[in-house]
Amino acid sequence: MGLWTALAITRQSQGRTKVRLFEARQVGHAGAASADVTRVFRHLHGPDEQTIRWTLEAGRGWEYLGNAANQHLLHRTGVLFLRHRERPGDTPSLHAQPFTTTREWMEASVEALEALDIPYKRLDKKDLARAYPQFRSADIEEAVLDTRAGFLEAAESLKALLALCKQAGVECHEAERVKAVRSNNEGCAIEVDGGRGYTAQAVVITANGWTADLLPVPSNILTITEQPLVYLSPPSNFSPFAEGRLPVFISLNTDCYGFPIHQDVIKVADDRPLRTLTHPDQRQPASDKYVQSVLERVAGFVPDLKNTSVARTHVCFYDRSRDGQFILDAWDTDSRIVFGCGFSGRGFKFAPVVGERLGRFAVTGERPEDLAPFQLGRFEA
Ligand SMILES: Cc1cc2nc3c(=O)[nH]c(=O)nc-3n(C[C@H](O)[C@H](O)[C@H](O)COP(=O)(O)OP(=O)(O)OC[C@H]3O[C@@H](n4cnc5c(N)ncnc54)[C@H](O)[C@@H]3O)c2cc1C
Repeated sequence: MGLWTALAITRQSQGRTKVRLFEARQVGHAGAASADVTRVFRHLHGPDEQTIRWTLEAGRGWEYLGNAANQHLLHRTGVLFLRHRERPGDTPSLHAQPFTTTREWMEASVEALEALDIPYKRLDKKDLARAYPQFRSADIEEAVLDTRAGFLEAAESLKALLALCKQAGVECHEAERVKAVRSNNEGCAIEVDGGRGYTAQAVVITANGWTADLLPVPSNILTITEQPLVYLSPPSNFSPFAEGRLPVFISLNTDCYGFPIHQDVIKVADDRPLRTLTHPDQRQPASDKYVQSVLERVAGFVPDLKNTSVARTHVCFYDRSRDGQFILDAWDTDSRIVFGCGFSGRGFKFAPVVGERLGRFAVTGERPEDLAPFQLGRFEA
């Protein structure tokens, strides 16, 4: 989010606005939420058409980055949404919120795609068996393929973005942690570890799970949850899991998802939170029992993954807002400190849009119109 914000400001001002980017460690360090092999890029997101418009805009941002870096960063493999039969007593699907059933969510999501002319395919059980025999479960009722969706190469994108920021003139301060930011109606004072200070006309804070170190966002509005990832070694017959054969998949009812083979692994995970934390530094390695339970749940509808071996695991975190929506706002009445957090496990794909909006907000002091729903004040009602 920080890199896209810095790039947006520099590009919008054609280099006339000086931008400093502070990163406590190294851009793309393993503890940050953006530092992973892949992230899902999808249009199908529920009934909100604005979210789809943002995905389209973000897609253009990622394509621009890919072209600038001469790299294939956005893989439009498709994202397949699986809907299973609902049974009384099932744990409500997180993906389907705020609906109570995945059927209602799917119908509303598809309607939104149609309203904006986004291509998709609806597959009944027979179509699914023919097109994607990797998914075998008696309880899958239907699937929808978001055809122009797919995945982003996350870590590679960060490297490309950092290079582009530097090339555009952003002054990058890695291994320089911001300790405090203060504002008055004339500007901001930034204090970094070691006692050094900087001044700026405005500051944008995108510190994800570390936001509360700098801004006292109440913990009942912004929580941190542990989100383990499991990387599997592909089975000996790996071709059904290769990119081009397997799309990204999201099982709405189990909240488990996975990716085709990328960088020699099949990544799977459960979107449901493992533990709630107060700080990202409290993360613990996932237990074998947890990892096995994820594997079993995924193998429940992708049986050929049953006997795969676990190559590695990693525990990431979500910065979950209370309502699952982003928080993109100004902290002070003069809009000198602008901040973004609460990405709730789905922010990566939108980073080009978030960066553009937060950057414009900070430079002009005017809230971009489409940020109105994302104010912190909504939680006071
Ligand atoms: C397991 C998992 C799966 C996900 N899947 C998806 C997905 O499929 N699709 C999707 O769109 N999104 C997904 N997300 C969400 C997405 O990855 C995040 O919303 C996004 O990467 C957050 O980006 P960020 O820049 O806000 O945070 P980060 O990448 O965490 O970056 C924040 C940076 O701020 C630095 N920092 C913190 N405090 C300070 C300070 N005081 N001074 C200086 N620097 C500081 C940190 O070191 C860190 O590098 C997923 C997240 C996880 C954990």
